[in-house]
Amino acid sequence: MSQATDIDAGSTVAIIGGGQAGAEAATLLRQNGHKGRIILFGEEKHLPYMRPPLSKAYLAGEIGADALIYKAPVAYEKAGVELRLGERVAGIDREARRLRLESGESVAYDKLVIAAGGRARELSVPGAKLRNIFYLRTIADVELLQPQLQPGRRLVIVGGGYVGLEFAAVAIKRGLRVTVLEGAPRVLARVTAPEVSAFYERFHRAAGVEIRTGVAVSGFTPGPDGENVGAVQCGDGLSVAADFVLVGIGLVPNTELAEEAGLVIDGGILVDDVSRTSDPDIFAIGDCAVHARHGFLQRKMRLESVPNALEQARTVAAVIAGKPAPAATAPWFWSDQYDLKLQMAGISEGYDELAIRGSTEGSSFIAFYLKDGRVIAADAINRPAEFMASKRLIADRAKVSAKDLADDSVPLKSLIAAAAAAA
Ligand SMILES: Cc1cc2nc3c(=O)[nH]c(=O)nc-3n(C[C@H](O)[C@H](O)[C@H](O)COP(=O)(O)OP(=O)(O)OC[C@H]3O[C@@H](n4cnc5c(N)ncnc54)[C@H](O)[C@@H]3O)c2cc1C
Repeated sequence: MSQATDIDAGSTVAIIGGGQAGAEAATLLRQNGHKGRIILFGEEKHLPYMRPPLSKAYLAGEIGADALIYKAPVAYEKAGVELRLGERVAGIDREARRLRLESGESVAYDKLVIAAGGRARELSVPGAKLRNIFYLRTIADVELLQPQLQPGRRLVIVGGGYVGLEFAAVAIKRGLRVTVLEGAPRVLARVTAPEVSAFYERFHRAAGVEIRTGVAVSGFTPGPDGENVGAVQCGDGLSVAADFVLVGIGLVPNTELAEEAGLVIDGGILVDDVSRTSDPDIFAIGDCAVHARHGFLQRKMRLESVPNALEQARTVAAVIAGKPAPAATAPWFWSDQYDLKLQMAGISEGYDELAIRGSTEGSSFIAFYLKDGRVIAADAINRPAEFMASKRLIADRAKVSAKDLADDSVPLKSLIAAAAAAA
C-alpha cells in the first residue's frame, strides 16, 4: 500500500449541497480512488435531482418525480457516500476545519466542496408579497405551481429568459391565457442574436402567448379578495390582469456561507482553474462558483448549467483524489420549448459576424457566431447531429467562412477537416 493511500484513509471530504454538482463530485471522488469519508449535506429532503425538467417534461406532467432522481440510492451506497439529506450547513469554521449544522451538530472535514447552487432572484417591487406570485427553482416550487395550471386561468410571466419561456410553452398547451413581460427589447436578449430572439417570439405568439418586450414591471396590485395578486403594473402605465404570476428573472448564487467564512466572493465564490477557492482546502462548483478564468473561455465567468456543474464536479473529484484535472471544454446548454430543441455551445457575447444555416422561417436552423473569422458559439434548433459538429468547430476555434457555414449543402464535417488542415 502506498503512503498516499494511508494518508487518504484518514481524510474526510464534506460536500455542501445535494444538487447535481454535489452528487456527481461525491460519487466520482470514490471512483477516482479517494479512500476516506465522503459526506454530502443537502438542505432539500429529496435525493439529488435534475432541475431542467422542472420547467419542461415534469411541469408538463409527462414524467413523474422518480424520473428526476439523478442517481439511484445504490450509487451512493456503492460509493460509500454518507447522504445527509434535509440537513442545512449553517457555518464553516475554516480554522478548526469544521462545519456547523443547523441542528447544532459539528462535523470535521479535511477538504470541503461547496456546491450550494443558487436561489431564484426575487422581484422587489410593491405588492411582491401578495399570494399567487411564484418562483421556480425546486420540486417544492413546482408542487405549489401545479394546481394553478388550469385552463382559462390568466398567467403573467415576468421575464423572457429560458425558464419563463419554457413555462409559457407548457402553460399555453394546457389552455391558460399567457402573457410574458420582458424588460429588455427582446426575449433571450442576454444569450442569443436578435434573429434567434425574433424566431422564439414568433413561435410563442403563433402558439397564442402574448409577449411584451421593453416593459418594466413596477408593482403588483391585489385582486378583489385583497390577498391574491390581481394585476401586474408596468412602468408605462400598462396593467395586465393576472390570476397568478411566475417570476423568472434569474438566479442569486448561494455565497453567504463562503462569504461569512472569509472566502473571496466576486459575483459568486471565486475559484481557479481547478475550482479551488481562496482557501486551498475548499473548492466551489456549479451555480455558486465563478471561474476567475474559465479554462476554455479564458475569461471570468459564472455559468448556470448542468454541463458546467458536472465538469467542475469531475475536476474537483480528480484533484482531491490526487489525479490530474480533465481539460476544460466549451460550455453548452439546452432548452426545450414546444417541439423545439435548442442546443447552444460557446458564449456568443462579442461576436462580430453571424451565419444562419437553414431558415429562421422554419423550425430547424443553426446560428453560428464568429469573432475574427473563428466560430465562438452556435445555437442549434432541431439539429442535434449538426450541433455535435458545431461543438467541435467551437472547440477547435475553427477559422471558417460565414458563407460556408450558412450553406446547407456544405457538410459541417468537411469544414472541421478543412479548418484543421489549414491550422
Ligand atoms: C427550472 C430550471 C430549468 C433549468 N433548465 C436547464 C437546462 O435546460 N439545461 C441546463 O444545462 N441547465 C438548466 N438549469 C440550470 C441547472 O439546473 C443548474 O445549473 C444546476 O442545477 C446547478 O447545479 P448545482 O448542483 O450547482 O446547484 P443546485 O441544483 O441549485 O443544487 C444546490 C443544492 O444545495 C443545497 N444547499 C444550498 N445551501 C445549502 C446548505 N447551506 N446546506 C445544505 N444544502 C444546501 C440547495 O438546497 C440545493 O439543493 C435549469 C434550472 C432551473 C431552475
